[in-house]
This record gives sequence, structure tokens and C-alpha cells, in this order.
Amino acid sequence: MLKIQAAVRFTRGIVIGPAYVVKEKAIEKPVVDPSRVVDHAMEKARFERAVEEVSRDLEKLALEHDVFAAHLAIVQDPTLSEEVFAHIEAGKTAEVSVDETIEGLKLVFQVMDNAYMRERADDIEDIGNRLMAALLQKSLRRFPGLTEPSVIVARDLLPSDTANLDASLVLGFITAEGGVSSHVAIMAKNRGIPALIGVPEAISSIQTGDLVAFDAETGEIYIHPDESIQADFSRRAEALKEREEALLERASSPVVSRDGKTVRVYCNIGSLEELGAAMPYAPDGVGLFRSEFLFMDSDHFPTEEEQFEAYREASEKVGNEITIRTLDIGGDKALSYFTFDHEDNPFLGWRAIRMTLDMPDLFCTQLRAILRASAYGSLRIMFPMITSLHEFERAKALTEECKESLKEEGVAFDSNIPLGIMVETPAAVFMAEELAKAVDFFSIGTNDLTQYVLAVDRGNEKIKRMFNSFHPAVLRAIAHVIDSAHKAGIEAGMCGEMAGDLRATEILLGLGLDEFSMSAQVTPDVKDIIRGLDVSEAAEKATRVLAMNDVEEVEAYLAGG
Ligand code: PEP
Ligand code: MG
Repeated sequence: MLKIQAAVRFTRGIVIGPAYVVKEKAIEKPVVDPSRVVDHAMEKARFERAVEEVSRDLEKLALEHDVFAAHLAIVQDPTLSEEVFAHIEAGKTAEVSVDETIEGLKLVFQVMDNAYMRERADDIEDIGNRLMAALLQKSLRRFPGLTEPSVIVARDLLPSDTANLDASLVLGFITAEGGVSSHVAIMAKNRGIPALIGVPEAISSIQTGDLVAFDAETGEIYIHPDESIQADFSRRAEALKEREEALLERASSPVVSRDGKTVRVYCNIGSLEELGAAMPYAPDGVGLFRSEFLFMDSDHFPTEEEQFEAYREASEKVGNEITIRTLDIGGDKALSYFTFDHEDNPFLGWRAIRMTLDMPDLFCTQLRAILRASAYGSLRIMFPMITSLHEFERAKALTEECKESLKEEGVAFDSNIPLGIMVETPAAVFMAEELAKAVDFFSIGTNDLTQYVLAVDRGNEKIKRMFNSFHPAVLRAIAHVIDSAHKAGIEAGMCGEMAGDLRATEILLGLGLDEFSMSAQVTPDVKDIIRGLDVSEAAEKATRVLAMNDVEEVEAYLAGG
């Protein structure tokens, strides 16, 4: 039995089950038929087409992870094609030629002294599998051999991985990399899947098939737990179930502070599946529907009809207010059916509202779908990554055009549907007073806001410790946004991960936040905390925290130190 202690904790859940270790970038090798008659020119052309197809896929994947840029360079390296062509000229099919070339290349790496270089053999194998799949016109399976519910152990999981993963086969996640605002963390929270992230030892200590037990709340991981640990984990699971049941009993009662302020505690979702997982927590509403997951789960831009059905179903299921964020793609989120040009700084690039304003047909398809769904429930539209009043006004003008066309077609919609923005860029913070006069609501996106205010890439492992929403610069930005909203008579919410951080609840209430939106699993705790708080006392604490100079001081104060 081996024990590992994880430092970052953000979900709860007790898990025991077999491990499935995701081989880095592993994809299944298709079976090759070597018996075909070979026409040299035709086989070479087939190989070249496969290289083109694989290059296109890798260009998209390179947006999500640098490793795929390296794969792209290898696929396009002339020495690879020269070697494959030599095999073809010796009378072999393109498949056999790729197979033999890749095996030879792997061997070169496998015998190297340096462990890092030896691991590169996996990259070569991965590239070979992609080429083979392209030659055979087969689709690739990203999780080969995952057939029973397992603890998924991986170095990192990409948004495209998590979007494609069958949730019924996932007991929990353990990843070596990633922080609390990484996509795997957000997805795990939204689906109520226990997870531990940023545990580098996991990947070297756990093998596929090992029995693993972990407690997401305490961060303890046991590999091959003995009987007494297994019994202890069963007791913990029972106690957790009772605690959750007690919290859930109170979940649907109103959230009013001790001194009478009513606060909305909403949930964040990325799909109807996540909404299903959220429903037992009796959400008061949805403060963020990340609509990009509808786009990422599809193999084409979802049609107006497909989107309308999804938004209507979500709205009817919730039965309360639901906030649809328009497409926030780009940055680290790619689409399999759409090529983004290479960008040196994708998080500062063509993403979210920038893209949709440049593609009005795509934008209007989504806006029309949301508007149509608004006839069936209480919907709000929220625009991401706003940096100027002009951007909001253009988005609003397009919404108005869509309303006009629906009216002409005699299609019903809510003509007063609120239009709000994510406040997640420093520009929106500085322009908050002006923006507040134009929009119907604010929702603060602390994941991006923290990244942009602190100039800390939210996905960069090396500077993970610097990504902290309790930095006074971020807190002062939040305070200014809430004040600006209230001055203009609108409400301010928050849908970034900070809204579900229990250490932040009192300060945010004290700053005047009107709506907290987070993973459904956390809502009962936040509701309970708010019911026990007094807004004026919280405001005093918030004032004290706003005067602090550094993040360590803020965290020590909030920890009661
Ligand atoms: C945010 O940036 O805080 C946010 C809620 O949006 P996302 O995490 O999807 O960028
Ligand atoms: Mg964001």
C-alpha cells in the first residue's frame, strides 16, 4: 500500500476503484492489412493525403497543448516522408511503410540514455497511430481499453478529452497537472465528479488496473489500500452521504442573510448532462451556461434548431432563470470542424465575442435559438470577453436584428430578455461605470479576470502558484465592478470559480455581490454560509481586506490568522 497526499482540494467525494492511466496522448493503433497490391504513385499520394489530414487535426490540437505543435513538426518533417517513400518503393503498402518507419524511429528513441528522450518514443507511436487511422479512414479512440468505471489518472486532460469522455465510466479524476480553474477541474466540479488535480506523483506511482482509493476533501490517495483503509473509506462515504443529505434538505429554502439580504445562489453548467447532475441540488437558477460545450460536443456548428432544443430543454428542466453565455471559443478551446489560424497568444487572441462579432451568421444562429427558447422560460443572454462599450452595442444591435426577423416571421420570444456581460477583462473593469449604464447585468468571470489582471496564464503549470483571485488587485477590481453596477441600478453576479470558494463567500457578500454562480455541488454549502452571515459585518471585513497589500496577508486573515 502506498499513500500520496494531494495539496489542492476543491471537490468532495470518496472513491474506490480500479485505475485507468491515460497513456500520454494515447490513441489506439488500427489493424493493418499488408496483403494489398502496391502502386507506388498511388501509395505515395495516399500517404501525402494522410499527412495533410493529420496536420489539420494537429494544428487544432496545438491550440490546446504545445505537445501537438511538436507532433505537427515531426509529421511534416521531410525525413519521415523520405523514409516512408523508401519503404513504398521497396513494394510495401503505405500502411506497412508507415508502420515500419514508425517502429524504426521508436527504436532510435527507446535505446537512448536520457529518460526524457526515451519517453519521446510514445510521441512517435502516437503520430504513427494518427497516420494509420487517416490511411484507413478510421476514427481514433482516445481512451482505448476504458470499459469499466475507473479512476482516470492522467498527466492532464484537454477540454476536447473531457468533452468526449463517457461520464458513466468515470469514478473520479487524478491529474498530475492543472489548477482549480483548469477545464478538467471545472468539468469535474460541474458534473459532481470527485477529483484531485496537480498531483505529479500520481502519474509515476499508479498503473492501470491498480486499486485506488481517494478522498477528494482531504486529498489522501491510497494505492492498493489494505482492508482497514477500505473499511475506513466505506465509513467516510457513509458519513459524507449523511452530511450531503442534511445540506440538501436545506438547499431549496431561501438564501437570506441574518440581516435580511436575499442573495441568488445559481449554478454553472456546460451541458444538459451537467444540468442533470446539478438538479438534485435544487439550483435557484443557472448563472452561466457555457454554450461552447454544445459546439465542442458536436462535429459541426450546431444548427439553430439543435441549439433551440438544447436551450429550451435546459430552461424547462431548471424551471428558473437561466443565463446563456454566447459562444466562448478560441483561447484554449478548439473545434474539431473549424480551423483557427495559429496565434502566438491565443488567450489574447481571436476568441469569444471577437470571433462571434466577426462571424455574424454564426452569432445570429445562436441568438435566434436563444431568443426562441426565451418563449418557454426565463432566459438571459450574456456576452463573454467584453472589452468596450462598442462591442456590447454591436452585440446588442445584432440581437435586435434577430428579434426583428423573428417578429416578422411571427415567432414568439421574450422581447424584454435581459442582455448582460461577463466582466472578465481589465478593460471592462475600468469601463464598468459606463458599461453598467448600458447593460442589464454584470457577471464577474474571475478565472479570466485573475489571469488578465495578474498577467498569469491560467493554464501554465510553472506559475500556477501566482494564479490567485485573492490578490488585492483582483479584489479591488471586483469591488469596483460591484460598486459601478449598483451606482447604475443593476445587479452584479459572479460566475468564476471564486464564487464557489468558501473562503471568499463572506468577503463577496460584504462587497455587495447579488448573485453567486458555481458548480451545483457547492451551492448548498455557500447557501448555508450566507444564511449565517450579517452583511454589515461582512462589509467591515471586506473593507479591511481591500486595504491589504498582498495576497498572503489576505489569505492569512481569511483563514482566521
Ligand atoms: C471566467 O472566466 O471566470 C468564466 C466564468 O469563464 P470561463 O472559465 O469559461 O472562461
Ligand atoms: Mg472566461
